[in-house]
Amino acid sequence: MSDQRAFALIPPVDSILKEQVVHSAITAYGREPVKLAIRSEVEILRREMARAAGEFLNHSREEIGQRVAEAAVLRIESEYQPLFRPVFNLTGTVIHTNLGRSRLPDSAIAAMAIAAGEAVDLEYNLHTGKRGDRDAHLEGLICELTGAEAATVVNNNAAAVVLLLNTLAREREVLISRGELVEIGGAFRIPDVMESAGAILREVGTTNRTHARDFESALTPKTALVMKVHASNYEIRGFTSAVPESVLADIAHNAGIPFVSDLGSGCLVDMARFGLPPEPTVRATIEAGADLVTFSGDKLLGGPQSGIIVGRADLIKRIKANPLKRALRVDKTVLAGLLSVLQLYRDPESLPQRLPLLVDLTRSLQEIDASIARILPVVSEAVGDAFAVEIIDCKSQIGSGALPLELMPSRAISVSLRPGQSDAALTKLAARLRALPKPIIGRLSDGSLILDVRCLRDEQGFCEQLLRL
Ligand SMILES: *Cc1c(COP(=O)(O)O)cnc(C)c1O
Repeated sequence: MSDQRAFALIPPVDSILKEQVVHSAITAYGREPVKLAIRSEVEILRREMARAAGEFLNHSREEIGQRVAEAAVLRIESEYQPLFRPVFNLTGTVIHTNLGRSRLPDSAIAAMAIAAGEAVDLEYNLHTGKRGDRDAHLEGLICELTGAEAATVVNNNAAAVVLLLNTLAREREVLISRGELVEIGGAFRIPDVMESAGAILREVGTTNRTHARDFESALTPKTALVMKVHASNYEIRGFTSAVPESVLADIAHNAGIPFVSDLGSGCLVDMARFGLPPEPTVRATIEAGADLVTFSGDKLLGGPQSGIIVGRADLIKRIKANPLKRALRVDKTVLAGLLSVLQLYRDPESLPQRLPLLVDLTRSLQEIDASIARILPVVSEAVGDAFAVEIIDCKSQIGSGALPLELMPSRAISVSLRPGQSDAALTKLAARLRALPKPIIGRLSDGSLILDVRCLRDEQGFCEQLLRL
């Protein structure tokens, strides 16, 4: 019966709504959601009372009302947390798909905010007062940077490939080397993409060796395209042979059909000039004779999620007329952000200072070492005596299928188990780092937690998090 007496101590929801602490929550979130939060907390309290009523009997109604109100405010604040939590990416993978790929430059973020908050001339021609084309804003610049005749932008590179194939090869054949039937993580597998686009895959050659004559003998009146897919995340080594793009282009052109290339990462400038491993540029692919090239806007390009198709004007025109284009088009904020990032490419020299992706990729070992020297004592202190902390050489990866096998020398803080400690202690440490308000994400490898410092910008924020460990 004591639980009935305890229940009677809970004030009605309407009177809890009048509690002082609840006021600002109502202003911020509205009355209804706050009421729901109070009801949930009352439910929880009733369950506690049913279990141990005695603990509540010496409290007043005011105290209980106050307690429910405070819990409800905490509940509603956590319900209204932003969708995404910023994290420290110390995984060593710079373009990490699961962590949102590239960080954008401030100029792009500002441009996206304007587009988000105002009416803009997205598809409105301010000269004529008539309907305009959303691609027109970027097309000139993309063409300037790639040497292409025309360009269009869609949701991501997967969409670009599907749209291209669906427009130019529906119910017709596409020739592609057996060495390039790739899977790019998740659900992007070339044979499946072909099928969903309604194109018929004609595999040519073998896994390790494909020759020009393999393509020539596979040509039929049903062939719509010759296609090349950049081997983004693997390499075939040993006894190998692939047909150069210029030869593939000639074979296609002699047959009167286009040659298209899915570059994946989409490099706009020669990465070697920044001391990075070379990657084929869009311009070089077009110069080699590709009629169309598809690439991501958020891999090596360093922009927002998008897919870009460039090439011959007549083919781009057909692609833009495909009803699927409407389904795959990008919104105004992405176009605004992408344009702003592309503008940085007009001055390639300054990219390592201005494009966050290249800031990270070109960070020198000296800078990384200096950063480690500043944070190491805080890391040691935070993890405690149970772990050995040391500086190790490591390799950062570019990630997202860009420059797959080339790893960049970097330096990391390695936190490892001392003899006699169980593996579970390390997994637990990694979990505690992930549970911080701004989680720290490292990489577990061979009994150590590796924190690659290449992408650490905010050292002070990082140290503040560690102090909470
Ligand atoms: C990454 C990649 C894709 C998919 O691009 P998303 O922008 O992730 O959709 C397609 N083709 C290749 C060769 C890739 O590397």
